[in-house]
Amino acid sequence: MTARLVLLGPPGAGKGTQAARLADELGIPAISTGDIFRANIKGGTELGKKVQAITASGALVPDELTNDLVRDRLAQDDAAEGFLLDGYPRNVAQVAALDEILGDRPLDLAVEITADPTVVVERLLKRAEIEGREDDTEDVIRHRLDVYAEQTAPISAVYGERGLLVQVDGIGDVDDVTARLLTAIGTAAR
Ligand code: AMP
Repeated sequence: MTARLVLLGPPGAGKGTQAARLADELGIPAISTGDIFRANIKGGTELGKKVQAITASGALVPDELTNDLVRDRLAQDDAAEGFLLDGYPRNVAQVAALDEILGDRPLDLAVEITADPTVVVERLLKRAEIEGREDDTEDVIRHRLDVYAEQTAPISAVYGERGLLVQVDGIGDVDDVTARLLTAIGTAAR
């Protein structure tokens, strides 16, 4: 199968960790809009300056900026045979933008990692201690979860209606979750 995939799930569900593992296993690039924003902020680029305060608050970066960034990234050679998007699309308008970007080579599957909100808050607070991410303070985490519930969670239903959604339990051992994800992707591809 070609593998044009999006990985969905709340902040703290383990998307970043699992995206890297799946990408390795499937031989496709993992593309994280959050990572791209963080790299730009660190590098002090124009884009970084525009998005720093927004990402630090836990709000979403404006769609035009994010959609353009994804359009450029998906046009690169390494994404020609497939990709795994992590953290995009993040609202229903971005779903439509991605449809337009992909044109006649649409998505194969949307894989959602599910996790209980209390578990994800704990995980994110732990990550804050380890990685020191600016948006991992308790207030900002709660705001990011609200943004997720209001703007991002509805995406699952959109892909569900298209018959493209698979859901995988994200609680448990990291290796077990990877195995579950690979099984779900493999089964859906058949
Ligand atoms: P993440 O690493 O995916 O949790 O993203 C970190 C932050 O980057 C988010 O809280 C947003 O501020 C911003 N961001 C990442 N992806 C998107 C997106 N698809 N649309 C808008 N903002 C985004």
